[in-house]
Amino acid sequence: MTAYSDKIEQMLEYDRQHLWHPYTSMTNPLPVYPVVAADGVRIRLADGRELIDGMASWWSVIHGYNNPILTEALQQQARDFSHVMFGGLTHEPAVQLAQILVDNSPAGLDKVFLCDSGSVAVEVAMKMAMQYQYARAKEGKNRFLTIRSGYHGDTFHAMSVCDPETGMHQIYRGVLPEYFFADAPACRFHDTWDERDIDSFAHLIEQHHHQLCAVILEPIVQGAGGMRFYHPNYLARVRELCDRYDVLLIADEIATGFGRSGELFACDHAAVVPDILCLGKALTGGYMTLAAVLATTEIAETISSSEPGVFMHGPTFMGNPLACSVAVASVSLLLKSDWRNTIGHLEQEISRGLEPCCDLTTVEEVRVLGAIGVVQMKKPVAMATIQQRFVDRGVWVRPFGKLVYIMPPYCMNDADIKTLTAAIYEVVALEK
Ligand code: PMP
Repeated sequence: MTAYSDKIEQMLEYDRQHLWHPYTSMTNPLPVYPVVAADGVRIRLADGRELIDGMASWWSVIHGYNNPILTEALQQQARDFSHVMFGGLTHEPAVQLAQILVDNSPAGLDKVFLCDSGSVAVEVAMKMAMQYQYARAKEGKNRFLTIRSGYHGDTFHAMSVCDPETGMHQIYRGVLPEYFFADAPACRFHDTWDERDIDSFAHLIEQHHHQLCAVILEPIVQGAGGMRFYHPNYLARVRELCDRYDVLLIADEIATGFGRSGELFACDHAAVVPDILCLGKALTGGYMTLAAVLATTEIAETISSSEPGVFMHGPTFMGNPLACSVAVASVSLLLKSDWRNTIGHLEQEISRGLEPCCDLTTVEEVRVLGAIGVVQMKKPVAMATIQQRFVDRGVWVRPFGKLVYIMPPYCMNDADIKTLTAAIYEVVALEK
């Protein structure tokens, strides 16, 4: 063994002994692959192998790795200042970012709260909804309604609105707030709309609206809760019902924001404007952790106009200038690009590439929306084996449960999509 491979082996051993990885056992961890570089759509492993990245590091790296414009924004900001507290101070990167978000998100979302991560954004949004009702002297309206198969993050309130079966409700029973769950939408994105699809939701909101401060859901694309694409009319009906029953609508676009589903925001598929919008992940092009919660002026003014007169949240790294600068660069780059055609083309190529999977007996369904491709298996896959098979074929795909799915960086070319989707076909064909 060379000194270099010795060093990598030692690093991996230390990792196994001391580092938690996401959703992984500490005593019997799944293998992890050491990365030494990433550029464009490729991740380079320590042994020199290069993998075409199908995951965009969980929806975030939309412009690819090492984008020179994003890197320059970060470096420039680091030379000016990396961080200052946001209490009592402000700076251009935060103001510029707020302006870009306000100008380009659904109309009416004019107030911006910057925070650390997607889960924290969900906590902030839920607190905002509660504080809004409290400020209107509607303290009884302090519970939430959501839909099954959702995912909103791993902090406590976020967990409480994740799918009750696949989420962590069982483990945290008694501690986790118990909220209302409507059936997951059954009508798919491309199906003919069936008005009965909204019945379960309509029934719950009608029954419980006196206790409800808000509905929270992922518009159109349910991500980690099942990778499901539902009908825009469902979202439109939710908006109507929220209005009818005086309940706020929180749209969690942490995964879907910034073009992923084919519209800039998934809400745009239904021309719906939420009262509160959560953004994260692709916000910084995957460079840093940052999230934003946008709300209407009415919500902000109501919260501010009665006791305690302020919104009760203020994290240490709120409005971090490095993260804001790279976010300004990332969102500007996206908006300057022909993102609609790019995503449309990716949708076509991913569909074409995954189509052969439909013929495999182990495959339940193949579905594609925007730059998201999903192969749903009949049985759960064995993670360690399937991961190894993907790596052996030079691609990075990380399935979970029955879902083998991709959401590549937007800059992926046709040849790489072909290699990526062909590898998925080959690997999925080996499943029993
Ligand atoms: N909401 C949605 C829709 C998500 O997909 C995620 C992350 N997978 C989150 C919230 C939580 O974001 P984070 O992991 O940054 O806390």
